[in-house]
Amino acid sequence: MSSKEEKCKSTNVLVLYTGGTIGMYRSNAGLKCGSGFTDLLKKLPMLHDDDYKYPNQRKPDVSHDLHELVLPLSEYGVRVFYYIKEYEEKKDSSNMDSEDWVEIAKDVRDNYDAFDSFVILHGTDTMSYTASILSFMFQNLHKTVILTGSQISLFEQRNDGRNNVLGALMFAGHFVIPEVTLFFHGKLYRGNRTTKINSGDFLAFDSPNLAPLATIGAEINVRWDVIWRCDPNKKFTVHTELNLDVGVLKLFPGITDNTVESICREPVKGIVLESFGAGNCPNERKEFIEILEKAIKRGAIIFNCTQCLKGGVKKDFETGKILFDIGVLSGSDITTEAALTKLSYVLSKDLPLDKKKELMETSIRGELSVASTSKSGFIKAIASDMDSTPDNNDVSKLLLNGTSHHKDNENGAAH
Ligand code: ASP
Repeated sequence: MSSKEEKCKSTNVLVLYTGGTIGMYRSNAGLKCGSGFTDLLKKLPMLHDDDYKYPNQRKPDVSHDLHELVLPLSEYGVRVFYYIKEYEEKKDSSNMDSEDWVEIAKDVRDNYDAFDSFVILHGTDTMSYTASILSFMFQNLHKTVILTGSQISLFEQRNDGRNNVLGALMFAGHFVIPEVTLFFHGKLYRGNRTTKINSGDFLAFDSPNLAPLATIGAEINVRWDVIWRCDPNKKFTVHTELNLDVGVLKLFPGITDNTVESICREPVKGIVLESFGAGNCPNERKEFIEILEKAIKRGAIIFNCTQCLKGGVKKDFETGKILFDIGVLSGSDITTEAALTKLSYVLSKDLPLDKKKELMETSIRGELSVASTSKSGFIKAIASDMDSTPDNNDVSKLLLNGTSHHKDNENGAAH
């Protein structure tokens, strides 16, 4: 063993394997999850160094049995150990629901101190929903959490899974990016900004309103200035209560009042209104507006988000302004996945309705761009906007009062 090897640092990553195409095999019934995934990884030299004898290994302090693997020595001189927890029932992510989200969140919580970072292997179909909800459930996250998967199974000769797993482990094993992120096809995204845009291509995800946090190619680049950081003095906790009485109302020309009514009625407490363009609706239809207004009056939250892939909602048009006049909230440039899961999270909190509404329009995990016209809001909006431009980092920090930590908006702090 070289002296370089003897002195090398090591990191420990917990990998939660929940299912998805990445570990599927062909069957008469179609692609399905099965066993043998970890054994396969062990046979891939880029993902496991079978000859390595672990001289300085820091074993994670866990009571349960995990499969232990180690990457070859990295370009940073680090040995990344990873420990796989295979879920008993591995799922196609189309079958996942809130119980699965809670299970994943609890697994991270229960292993939080024992590991340096976390990778979650997950199906691509609902990965953006899971990434979004975990970003809200995790409060004061100080460690890297990355979701990844693949479009083609690792059991196939030609697949994107190998590179996605390796890329996710590279980020998790070397960088502290304390957010719930999603890694796919060379890009690390803020998870709650992503959406699945392609069901067949290796470039399956996009983050339409926020450039990737990091990229991996010939070089690895991290945009440190945009990484979301919470107060380092606050302890990581997991919020496991969710309110599932939420729904999505996607407008289309000619949608009937009956359809609108059926989504706006009890017990639904939160509605993502997927409006046209920059937040517009058929404002000339009195009945339609009245149905929305009635729902708001009985205490439901209606959250206005655009149907467009890129951009957000504004109050520019007569057809959009009316929604704000009756109390619909602005989702700014949030994705539907983040909007829906944020509603589930916020509605489950023990807070007065006014405070819940305030939280919905506030960026609590970097999930939306803040658009405000008040003076302090204006400065914050410029600052947060600049925050996504590396060169302007210093100016934005100055505007944000010299702090690079995001305020805890959820407990009444100013925003
Ligand atoms: N149906 C699969 C899933 O979401 C698709 C994939 O993983 O790419 O689990």
